[in-house]
Amino acid sequence: MTDDPLEKAEASSPPLRRRTRLTRAGLATRVDGGRAVNPPLVRASTILFDNVAHLMDVRRRRNDERLLSYGARGNPVAYALEDAITELEGGHRTRLFPTGLAAITQTLIACLRPGDHVLIADSVYEPVRHFARQFFERFSIDYSFFAADGQGVEALLRPRTRLIYAESPGSLAYEIVDLPALARLAHSRGILLAADNTWGAGYLYRPLALGADIVVSAPTKYLSGHSDVVMGAVTTTQEAWARINRSADAHGMTVGPDDAWLILRGSRTLAARLPLHAAGALRAAQWLRAHPAVARVFHPALPDDPGHALWRRDFSGANGLLSLALKDPAEEAAIRFIDALRLFGIGASWGGFESLAMLADMRQARTVADWSRHPLLIRLHVGLEDPDDLIADLEQALARKSVKGER
Ligand SMILES: *Cc1c(COP(=O)(O)O)cnc(C)c1O
Repeated sequence: MTDDPLEKAEASSPPLRRRTRLTRAGLATRVDGGRAVNPPLVRASTILFDNVAHLMDVRRRRNDERLLSYGARGNPVAYALEDAITELEGGHRTRLFPTGLAAITQTLIACLRPGDHVLIADSVYEPVRHFARQFFERFSIDYSFFAADGQGVEALLRPRTRLIYAESPGSLAYEIVDLPALARLAHSRGILLAADNTWGAGYLYRPLALGADIVVSAPTKYLSGHSDVVMGAVTTTQEAWARINRSADAHGMTVGPDDAWLILRGSRTLAARLPLHAAGALRAAQWLRAHPAVARVFHPALPDDPGHALWRRDFSGANGLLSLALKDPAEEAAIRFIDALRLFGIGASWGGFESLAMLADMRQARTVADWSRHPLLIRLHVGLEDPDDLIADLEQALARKSVKGER
């Protein structure tokens, strides 16, 4: 038992709410004297042992227990971050990866073997498609894509389907799948369900509580919140843990303590940042939808968004992402609009404090759904700037003569 009065109070009181837990997970462990709020940054490759017996004992136990044994097998700050993410996602344990994409590809590799079949959401983060093409074909793993809203998944199942890989809301257009229904279907056939929770940031959405076995995410985005670090995370149920952990060790997957420290620092303000991003994105989405040059706006908090009802049922909020299609379908129109923006940076990724704009070709990003009506989307990430300034910026960019509107 603990002597820490705070821990004692927690042990004897009702479970803390998520926002409170976000400030308490993965803090410094007690050493003699007082203690810093945050864990010390320990940079290490070699870990020293008292004698050979000590080394052999740690090596024997390190696959099952969390023991400092070598830099590539983790470090104290990474352990603290793992605990914080485990707490957020409500899982058994978390493994960290050098990028969000590595977290996804390592999950696929850990769950599949030659002859297996995997079903992947049509709305998946696009680089996963490139991985599937390169890796699965070389290793004789079959894959197919299912509609982003989950329609017709059952008919796509095969006797060798081992894994369903979901992403909800989907990349770029934010399609939402009924994850509990997908989990029931998967589990009735002994199939694993993995879900990408980067949009939900472990905070707005809890795939494990909705039935997923594995949740992957890119803390690169909102957990970091400051556009200065890349990282991936995989959190699993107890049953799915060993295969991910073993495979990650075999592949030498690790993260540096400095990067883990940055994500941990960013995570403390997640609950304060997300509502500002969401409020700004909703304002921008509503404003854009009423603009005569805009054909369509994609954002799940809009009441007429196709995923809105499921979003309300399964999510506790939204973030700063939205996408739009201009009425002018010409690529030059979209490019001129993006180039005319002054407060939106042009660049990949999102989740930082700054606003961003990106051009997305939906004919490459989707293969199941027909996107010929809106082949080009402009994805916006609404940062922490004042929404009035952002809307004024959108207005001046749309007002450029070169962006053909219907007015
Ligand atoms: C950005 C992103 C990733 C990949 O994260 P990186 O750290 O950039 O590799 C994975 N999934 C989703 C949904 C993303 O948006």
